[in-house]
Amino acid sequence: MVYDNPDGVMIGLEIHVQLNKLNTKIFCGCSTKYHEAGPNTHVCPVCLGLPGALPVINEKAVESAMKIGLALNCEIVHQTQFHRKNYYYPDLPKGFQTTQYDYPIAGEGRVVIEGEDGEHVVRITRAHMEEDPGRLVHIGTIEKSRGTLIDYNRSGMALIEVVTEPDMRSPKEARRFLDKLRNILEYLDVFDSSLEGAMRVDANISIGGGSRAEVKNISSHKGAERALLFEIIRQKNLLRRGGTVVLETRHFDEARGVTISLRTKEEEHDYRYFPEPDLVPMRVADRTARILGTLPELPDAKRERFIAEYGMIDMHAKALTSGIRIADFYEDVASRIDAKTCTPWVADVLKGELNYRDLTIESFTVDDIVGIIEMVVSDKITEKSAVEVIRTILDSGGHPLDIVKEKGLLKVEDDVVSRAVLKVINENEVAVADYLGGKEQSLNFLVGQVMKKTRGRADAREAREMVLESLNQ
Ligand code: ZN
Ligand code: MN
Repeated sequence: MVYDNPDGVMIGLEIHVQLNKLNTKIFCGCSTKYHEAGPNTHVCPVCLGLPGALPVINEKAVESAMKIGLALNCEIVHQTQFHRKNYYYPDLPKGFQTTQYDYPIAGEGRVVIEGEDGEHVVRITRAHMEEDPGRLVHIGTIEKSRGTLIDYNRSGMALIEVVTEPDMRSPKEARRFLDKLRNILEYLDVFDSSLEGAMRVDANISIGGGSRAEVKNISSHKGAERALLFEIIRQKNLLRRGGTVVLETRHFDEARGVTISLRTKEEEHDYRYFPEPDLVPMRVADRTARILGTLPELPDAKRERFIAEYGMIDMHAKALTSGIRIADFYEDVASRIDAKTCTPWVADVLKGELNYRDLTIESFTVDDIVGIIEMVVSDKITEKSAVEVIRTILDSGGHPLDIVKEKGLLKVEDDVVSRAVLKVINENEVAVADYLGGKEQSLNFLVGQVMKKTRGRADAREAREMVLESLNQ
């Protein structure tokens, strides 16, 4: 099936990724661990752009960039070169950004996402290295700010800018691409998405082959989807009224969910790119094979292995490889409990409860889930009680066994259940007669009475079987 895209929506993304797992910035020795620090405490003459200060390339940043390029199936350039991108902005103390221009470290590549109609290829145009500018903190909103503060702690952080072709056909596909990219970067262990400003998205969007508008600096994946949905409506309304979409840069106001025009878009020549004279061209081709050898198993490969090795369905494999931490968590559990048993507990139950609470797998321990599953397997608690234990741990903490004892969840013995069944059958002649007369629903009522008598500690499925058995005697 071909996804029908009636409005001809085309979305391309430019994503700035901070290599925030490096210890130092891209061209100086300043620490990258500034997130808890006061403003302008992680700075030096290089990242403040003081006259005469000279950059030295961070080798680890180069290797991380190559890893990312290879993981996105990009061509790695033979020799890369930094350029100066000249523009004036208060967060850029040198008056130019050191970036890559016609020799980006990584060229054309491709990423497969789950599209609107099955697998969909998003072409990567390039991925290049550059330095992060400082951070402007507006007092109030960007439109009516009384003043702006500058924090240079971020200045000189290593960035990778990933640029895609306009291959996404809906805001949902754009969000899926971003999720996939984040997942790959976390598998590579080059980036921590939980830190402020770790990934910033610029999205360009056009409808029906018209001009594109670019929405700048969206800070979350959900925000990107919302900004794009808003843009589609705005552009459609504009066209309907006989207007035309102009090439411009817009800002997404996350709080109000709208985009606002900031300025007409700069042309490339406005930046007067020229080669950075303080950094020599850098030959990287001879490292490619070695770095390729250090790449970890990536999400797609892991998903296929999970299906083959643990015999799980694709839906479970997708859920369990959607992040490196849940994948590792699952494999820990699967090393202690057979895969067939533990897969639905982790992929469906636990993940579902985590998603519902907007929590990540860090909120649970392998020991706890193993303990809970073992109690189900050894028939100590019912599946329903196990879910209750999981919920209790997530909502108020505690250990599985304590919770089971406190809440009296230990399964009642079979003879207790059979006594309850007998009692229920004797006490409910009408329902029994109804059932025997062909009224199927009466069975549910009788099972419900058994559950009530055992205060929900009987296994519902077993209780049902026992009721049926007595009725059919
Ligand atoms: Zn510095
Ligand atoms: Mn950039």
